Amino acid sequence: MEDIKNIILKRGKEESLMRFHPWVFSGAIHSCDGDPQEGELVNVLDGSGNFIARGHFQNSSIAVRVLTFAEENIDGEWWRRKFMGAYGLRKAIGLTDNPNTACYRLIHGEGDGLPGLIVDIYNDTAVIQTHSAGMYANIRTISEGIVKLYDGKITAVYDKSTGTLPYKSGIQQADGYIFGSRQSDIIVENGNKFTVNWEHGQKTGFFIDQRDNRELVGKYAAGRTVLNTFCYTGGFSVYALRGGASHVDSVDSSARAVELVDKNVKLNFGENVPHEAITADAFEFIKRMDKGYDMIILDPPAFAKHHKVLGNALQGYKRLNTTAFTKINKGGILFTFSCSQAVSREQFRNTVFSAAVISGRKVRILHQLTQPADHPVNIYHPEGEYLKGLVLYVE
Ligand code: SAH
Repeated sequence: MEDIKNIILKRGKEESLMRFHPWVFSGAIHSCDGDPQEGELVNVLDGSGNFIARGHFQNSSIAVRVLTFAEENIDGEWWRRKFMGAYGLRKAIGLTDNPNTACYRLIHGEGDGLPGLIVDIYNDTAVIQTHSAGMYANIRTISEGIVKLYDGKITAVYDKSTGTLPYKSGIQQADGYIFGSRQSDIIVENGNKFTVNWEHGQKTGFFIDQRDNRELVGKYAAGRTVLNTFCYTGGFSVYALRGGASHVDSVDSSARAVELVDKNVKLNFGENVPHEAITADAFEFIKRMDKGYDMIILDPPAFAKHHKVLGNALQGYKRLNTTAFTKINKGGILFTFSCSQAVSREQFRNTVFSAAVISGRKVRILHQLTQPADHPVNIYHPEGEYLKGLVLYVE
């Protein structure tokens, strides 16, 4: 225990930590005892030298990601407790043994008290994504812990951290299996089938976080013509078709994504489906399209990765939503999302409000959406609520 280095905060800078917020910003640090390395476990002390927290150090604006506010060992038993806690929540919400849904998030960073760590389960495969050097340093422990947790049910663990580890950490990691080898890549979600490519796809292969919202799209799709923009694997498209949409157009700028949608539609419904997948820029497509739709889904990538580009991001959302409001058929339903952590729920809603004003349409809010329960939000870390959505009825 004695060899854990101390980070001493400037006076008064412990306040957010006293409210259990799990980040220490570099600007809050007064001094360090020694020279902590990237990913090293450190103690955080207040200006008077009292212990506040223990976490992973990183050379970035978030300098420490807190693992515990207690003076406890971060050992095998500690990790086991964390994994059990995460699993217990997924079991409580009915995801661990669900024949209709074989993919879910097991560990959601701060939401599970494990900042910097994402673990998604696809059938028998666990996909690990580390976002911090500290978590990456423990990837073997994490992998072994998860395999043990599932008692033989998880037969492969894939490390997909290349795109998420901080560049500055200098870690030369290559994605790959750290346990077992490639298993079945066809998963079910609410009874719908999807091919998930965790080796080469975006995120861990699938946008698990839209599960509940996809279900809602399915519920309203009957008899409607649907435009699914930024469709990626076509999650919303498959649910819309299952829900009885009269026609679905799926648009993505990536030709690989468009291939995937076609594949997933075929997987569920075979040939001769009222569906077309189109490779195009969604902004251009929606601006130029000459037909209206009864339902439009806007699920763009995070426009604002940082607060610095927030203004541009909000302009992007406004432009996109204005066009959708202008073009959607009378009585149409618009599903509009933002997955930017830097954009607050309020800002997103105000932006969509401005877009509605510009379009001059009469708009009512039917639902306010967020991420599903396997992406829990630590109440002390409001930043964890990143997915925001509105379902709007447009007259
Ligand atoms: N709705 C998807 C997830 C969207 S991810 C789902 O439920 O799974 C964002 C997608 O937007 C990516 O597939 C990316 O290729 C695509 N994309 C990014 N910029 C785009 C643009 N300008 N026009 C169309 N698609 C774009």
